[in-house]
Amino acid sequence: MSNVSPRSIPKARGGTLTDHYPPPPTIRRRDSCRLCGGKTLDLVLSLEPTPPANAFVTLAEADKEQARFPLDVFFCEDCFHVQLLDVLDPKVLFENYVYVSGTSPLFVKHFEDYAADVMARLSPRQSGLAVDIGSNDGTLLGFFKKAGMKVLGIDPARDIAEKATACGIETINDFFSASVAEKILANHGPAAVITANNVFAHIDDLAGISEGISSLLSDDGLFVFEVSYLVDVFEKTLFDTIYHEHLAYHSVRPLISFFDKHGMELIEAGRIESHGGSLRGMAQKKGGPRPVGNSVARAVAAEVKLGLDKAETLRAFADRIDTRKAQLSALLAGLKAEGKSIAGFGAPAKATTLMYHFGIGPEVIDFIVDDSPLKQNLLTPGMHIPVVGPQTVDERKPDALVILAWNFAGPIMANNAAFHDRGGRFIIPLPEVRMI
Ligand SMILES: [Zn+2]
Repeated sequence: MSNVSPRSIPKARGGTLTDHYPPPPTIRRRDSCRLCGGKTLDLVLSLEPTPPANAFVTLAEADKEQARFPLDVFFCEDCFHVQLLDVLDPKVLFENYVYVSGTSPLFVKHFEDYAADVMARLSPRQSGLAVDIGSNDGTLLGFFKKAGMKVLGIDPARDIAEKATACGIETINDFFSASVAEKILANHGPAAVITANNVFAHIDDLAGISEGISSLLSDDGLFVFEVSYLVDVFEKTLFDTIYHEHLAYHSVRPLISFFDKHGMELIEAGRIESHGGSLRGMAQKKGGPRPVGNSVARAVAAEVKLGLDKAETLRAFADRIDTRKAQLSALLAGLKAEGKSIAGFGAPAKATTLMYHFGIGPEVIDFIVDDSPLKQNLLTPGMHIPVVGPQTVDERKPDALVILAWNFAGPIMANNAAFHDRGGRFIIPLPEVRMI
């Protein structure tokens, strides 16, 4: 369930993308903190409401209006957890996920190193069961299997689970829960390793899955998770990572008390580069064999220094986003006043947040170029801007390209050097507004 690939888009159940229309998702608003249950929740950032970030539609559905849902970010005064309280039905968001992690060489390498890191910590124990929650195509489990472990995947995307099982990685097609954990425990025994990558930000009932993890984990077992890190979101102005699939914006301090509440202890909190900056956390059952590493205290100190334990810090973050919005709007309005044509480059999920909040609509950009054939010939969620292949830049010769997938600005500019050579301008919206 990796979340930031430009390839991750929903697919019609039993059909193709061309006959896809997303059903209207259901929504409910929590009234308590997802981690501690506290009820003192401050609204610190209110982004423009959007449709689900991956709800692309076909040309035939251009005239159908898509529902938009609030993107309000709340700060818990009790445990400092930053989160969305509006929860869209996960069945709509995840069941037809087509992102497949094994297709990206970078991800494969990432998971190979990840498995090696975990295996080293299990030493001398090198066998036993490894369970991956949100296992996608089984890439990570494949490395555990190679290292001699028994493996079991769990993934709610039916096609992906079936394919992984066919390829030798047994995968349960379900959402992980305490009851699924019970069944695994009965059939396979306790797990030496449980992993969950880019899952902890996506699940509303974190308490429930943590109970499941705690019950399934062996007494000396290791739970490892990767999740996008609030420190990176804050420092690098990654506000466009805020969309409905990402319910939680984790930092270390709230997680310490959260794990403690569920019979576990956080023992490592390392920073890694995935997805613009993530956290690789490790936890064990309380009283487990490993000492708490220095990385935990170091992370907490860094978070306190940034003021992430104060609502006003998040409000200042909101002000910073507004400043970027004003700068970008002025730049784009200036170009339009000169009669320039503007297109977008890149249609990842996060472009939905960026375009809505920054007001980059069909009156500003004519089309969006995306390298993924899965998105070409579709229309963007809500705004219905056409997504086209890269050859369109040559055909239609826009004067400027707004790089919506701005975390890939370097490679995008390199691949489109010819556009720049003939006078085209690149506009990079974040972390600072720049025109090149
Ligand atoms: Zn809380």
